Amino acid sequence: MPVKFGPSGLGSVKEAISNLEKYKSLGFTACEIAFTYGPYIKKKEDAEKIKNASERLGIQLTIHGPYWVNLNSEDPEKIKKSKERIIECCKIGSWLGAKKVVIHPGFYGKKDILESYQNIKKAILEMEEERKKLKYSCKFAIETTGKINVFGSVDETLKLVEETGCDFCIDFAHILAREKSYMFDEVFRKFKNFDEIHIQFSGINYTEKGERNHIETKREELKELISHLPKNKNITIINESPNPVGDTIKALEIYGKISQFLITKK
Ligand SMILES: [Zn+2]
Repeated sequence: MPVKFGPSGLGSVKEAISNLEKYKSLGFTACEIAFTYGPYIKKKEDAEKIKNASERLGIQLTIHGPYWVNLNSEDPEKIKKSKERIIECCKIGSWLGAKKVVIHPGFYGKKDILESYQNIKKAILEMEEERKKLKYSCKFAIETTGKINVFGSVDETLKLVEETGCDFCIDFAHILAREKSYMFDEVFRKFKNFDEIHIQFSGINYTEKGERNHIETKREELKELISHLPKNKNITIINESPNPVGDTIKALEIYGKISQFLITKK
């Protein structure tokens, strides 16, 4: 099964279809739409045009949900608003034919890890019920996060996926920033029961506390990720560097070389 590669960012509604055409010409097969500051595609007819173009061009769409989300807030109103924002992304995501909306579920704040987990799990289960009731096909995917004060370690993410049935996104740049190691083998072993694996990747600056900012992806880092990918899985790799298109081109070149090497070795 070939790995799907694509950038974070589809561009404005006006540019969306021409960008998809450009991505196709570059060999991309995925794209993550950034609703990080809110869903900017608002009309159903625009969403459906983009959906049709993505299907015609063979580009799998996903969504990055809003940053302003905290399912573990002290303030119940903030939790309610966070859930509404995520559900809104699911609605538009379903119009777009997007597979999932990737979310950072919340902060620990003053709560301990266990209580944070229970709060977030409860919110996810409630949203999941709502999503099913509304018949939205676009699922929630919990992302592994890059800061030590933010919910989303590898184990928390896995447990949440197992206990709520939600989807997941493994951001290896975040894992590096949080754990000071990519832990490729360990992470893939933990998620070995899932056939579909959604990955985000880029270079990253980080400190003791974790992530600072995403930076350009080095060839060496891409090589390391690609050579650790498990076989026979449906894998998508979204590049989130400041140059996501350039770095996706780089990733595809490296993937091509590594696959060729594996074929000739057989
Ligand atoms: Zn993210």
